[in-house]
This record gives sequence, C-alpha cells and structure tokens, in this order.
Amino acid sequence: MMSNVGQARSRLKADCANCFGLCCTALGFMKSADFALDKANGVPCPNLQDDYRCGIHRELRTTGFKGCTVYDCFGAGQHVSQRTFAGRDWKTDKETAEAMFAVFPQMVQLFELLWLLEEAQGKTSRPELKEQAERLLGKTRAMTDLSAQELRRLQIGEHWREVNDVLLQVSEEVRAGIASAKKLNKKFGRGADLIGAKLQGTDLSGANLRGAYLIAADLRETRLDRTDLVGADFRDADIRGADLSGSLFLTQIQMNAAKGDGRTRLPEGIERPSHWCE
Ligand code: SF4
Repeated sequence: MMSNVGQARSRLKADCANCFGLCCTALGFMKSADFALDKANGVPCPNLQDDYRCGIHRELRTTGFKGCTVYDCFGAGQHVSQRTFAGRDWKTDKETAEAMFAVFPQMVQLFELLWLLEEAQGKTSRPELKEQAERLLGKTRAMTDLSAQELRRLQIGEHWREVNDVLLQVSEEVRAGIASAKKLNKKFGRGADLIGAKLQGTDLSGANLRGAYLIAADLRETRLDRTDLVGADFRDADIRGADLSGSLFLTQIQMNAAKGDGRTRLPEGIERPSHWCE
C-alpha cells in the first residue's frame, strides 16, 4: 500500500498533456553534451509541435537532447497552464507569454519545496517538526495559488531558508543513531567533492551528502539508507545495483541524471527512468 508521502508525491508529477510546453519554451539552454543547439529563455524549441508535444520525444538521447530526458517540473507546468493562467496559452498574446515564462521557474521551485516538505513531514517523529512541516506545506501551497502578478514579485529565498531549516532538523533526527555516520561525515560530508570517486559496495548509510558532487562516481551496489541527498549532483553517477530506497530528499531529476539499472532500488514516488534500460 502506498504511504502518505507516496500519495502526496503522486500528485507532484508532470502532466505534459495539460501543459503548454513550458519547459520547452520558458527555459533556455546552451549547445553542449546535453543539448544539440542554443535556445534562449522564452523562445519555443524548434522541436516543439503545435500541440505542445515534442517532435523527437522517442529520439531525444540519440539526437543530442539528453538534457531534456533529465528535466522534471514536479507538476508545476500543468499548474501554471491550467490554474494560474486558467487554460490561456502563451500563443494568445505577448503579455500572457511573458508573464507565463516568468512565473514557470518560480512555480517549479515551489513545487520542489512541496516534494521535500511532504517527505520531511512523513519522516519526522517529532510533533513540533511535523507541525512546522505542515505549516510550511500550507504556506507553500498558498503561494502556488497566487496570481501571476504576485508570483512574479514573490521572493522565494527567505521561504527556502525556512524550509531548509526544517529539512536539516529532520535529516539530523533521522540520521541520528547510525553508528557509522560520524565517521562517514568526517571522510565525505556535506558538499563533498566525490567526482569520479570509486565507492562501489560502500555503505554510505547515514552520511550527509547534501550538495555533494557525485558526478560520474562509481556508486554501484552502494547502500544509502537515510543518506541526506538534498541537491547532490548525480550526473552520470553509476548507481547500478545501489539501494537508495531509504535515502532522504532524493528527486526524480537526480535519478534521471544518473545511470541505474533494474536492480537499483528507489524511494517511493520516484520512477525508474526509461533510458536506464537502453
Ligand atoms: S527537444 Fe523536445 S523535449 Fe527538448 S526542449 Fe525541444 S521540444 Fe522540449
């Protein structure tokens, strides 16, 4: 049976059929290993069709658009399209387009906070922390329902700090009592540079890997039980056979960027990316 966190997270999924292709329009990218061309913010990608679907959806990784298979909006796209702008699309007029493209990145941040707070609330057993997480969930949900004008003016930084404080407390609570965690944090720890690190088979349970650089690290068959992974960079990290099912604050984007397989165990609410099987 799905837990409360799993149920809440199932509502924080992108529904591209109800979105006006906002990630393919509002956000810019640069020609690189992830994108085959340069595109400025607010300019529709040349591969975006009239029905707001991607014309090369099935060939993204083989045609130089790997970056598109990593992105996830947490469901912010359909919210902006159908709720904030009540189904008015950006083709209607220039003003709507400008406002919509400015609001979308703000909304993605708010939806990511909802994702993290749902987990924090579900994992703490301290009543005062549960209450704080619930209050911040309510505040964040209210922010997502602001008007486009209000959202454009919204300063999310202060709210982010408040949320982060709760995430930190929940992380400390959940990781407390793992005997090896102290030792691990001396060696690795928050923001650790683990680019290309050879860690196959290591038990990283209880470690604080917030913001760690795990780019291209060999994490095969590692165990990351109650490992704090907020903002950890998993680009091309090899997580085949790794167990992340009990990790903390992992997102779909992080997993989309990594290389896993059918043995990789994921937390509830995170899907196995289809490109892992290629
Ligand atoms: S390639 Fe497809 S998914 Fe990527 S930005 Fe363009 S339309 Fe969107």
